[in-house]
Amino acid sequence: MASGQVERGGPGIGHNAELSAATRRSLSVPPDILALNPERMRELGYWVVDQVVEHFTTVGDGPAQVEEDPASLRAALGGPLPQDGAPLDEGLALLRDVAVAAQQHGDHPRYFARVPGPLSFPAVLADWLVTGTQSVASSWGGGSGPSTVEVIACEWFRDALGLDPAAEGVLLSGGSMANLTGLIAARAVTGPGVVYLSDQAHSSLKRGLLAAGYPPELIRVLPADDQFRLQPAVTAAAIASDTAAGRRPAIIVATAGTTNTGAVDDLAALADLAAARGMWLHVDGAYGGPAALTARGRETIGPALARADSFVADPHKWLFQPYGVACLLVRHPGVLERAFAMNPEYLADVSGHEVTLSNRGLELTRRARAFKLWLTFSGYGFKNLARAVERGIGLAEYAQYRVEAEPGLQVVTPASLGIVTFAGAGREPAAHTAAAEAITRSGYAALSSTVLRQRAVLRLCTINPRTTEADIDGTIARAGALLRG
Ligand SMILES: *Cc1c(COP(=O)(O)O)cnc(C)c1O
Repeated sequence: MASGQVERGGPGIGHNAELSAATRRSLSVPPDILALNPERMRELGYWVVDQVVEHFTTVGDGPAQVEEDPASLRAALGGPLPQDGAPLDEGLALLRDVAVAAQQHGDHPRYFARVPGPLSFPAVLADWLVTGTQSVASSWGGGSGPSTVEVIACEWFRDALGLDPAAEGVLLSGGSMANLTGLIAARAVTGPGVVYLSDQAHSSLKRGLLAAGYPPELIRVLPADDQFRLQPAVTAAAIASDTAAGRRPAIIVATAGTTNTGAVDDLAALADLAAARGMWLHVDGAYGGPAALTARGRETIGPALARADSFVADPHKWLFQPYGVACLLVRHPGVLERAFAMNPEYLADVSGHEVTLSNRGLELTRRARAFKLWLTFSGYGFKNLARAVERGIGLAEYAQYRVEAEPGLQVVTPASLGIVTFAGAGREPAAHTAAAEAITRSGYAALSSTVLRQRAVLRLCTINPRTTEADIDGTIARAGALLRG
């Protein structure tokens, strides 16, 4: 303590001989104010482990999705401002029984809605380790270990997917943030200009472009073909007409696995087009990208994936991760730093083995998202991960085969990267939304309806390897019964 070194009444601010009463009161708070004793920490921690293991083993026995009314949720979880603490085990049980119970279970074997989130235990373990050790991957000095884990996880992922070996990665919270980050990096290279995407591109892309300040008149949403793919010829024509009008074509956004139907754009033709016009090719593989880990997925997506200037995949969808991790890979080293670094003198160090990951995006304090990926990759190995992804591809094909055999149902889009859509023959749109809702409300399975060229359809996304053929049978049979009227 420096106090007392300065004479009372001497010059300087705050140099008092005595601590004020307020300071002394503040310091009377014991340093262990928030601490729990180790025994209690273990007891509570083991309880959480037990809940999670129970969840892993029994999730399929309960409903796939539950929605509660807001009043009963608020009544159970709210109340007056908690001023004095309540027992932690009671709070934890309430979170489990009320909050966790009222949600979609994206890891349920019959959760087929939107994009499921099948989960693997190694990823959960590694994420717990990060949470409990405050692991951070922001600066090199503050997180050289976690930063290295992230760089290596991105490199392994890149190489397993068959992307350009020069590509540099960064992990973000999800596909939306990864798309936004990729588009901002692209603009740093291309400068302002026109962006081309299909009407099947994910909404996060348009939202990201608008949020990044793209004027709506520079965003070209082009009609997809009858297989829901961005059409290279239509894109080329739009580029030509923009060029003729004095505008600068800048970015083509392609999708490797659309959320609606699993369609994959013609990446080779679009890469040719981008190269010929000096444009940037961004590939959104948020849900479909991990399919490239398998031989069948690589065949569907094609080798031109390696020509993407930037590429996004969401391991919290098809790579068995807890929510909160997407990977952006950019083929041009240093571009992310050029777009985002706030201390350009750092650029000198970037190319070596030191990396400042907070300079590859908009987040400064970044939890070590890579631990879960790293442990998943190293623990299972890519061979086993590819087999788990491959099962999801096969399950959608099995669902297609079941739909074809089910009276009254017809396939609308065939199985592609784990997605199949179908409809009730001659049934009106409302019957489809009603069928999806009835099955979901029953708890047996969760599935969504969507609209394809004004046609209402049911849609199954089958990327959970724990799903059985019997799960598909039961779901299709229920849909058939409802749609036969
Ligand atoms: C899910 C999805 C996104 C958005 O990813 P989030 O992780 O939900 O933010 C973007 N693109 C595609 C193709 C998707 O399926």
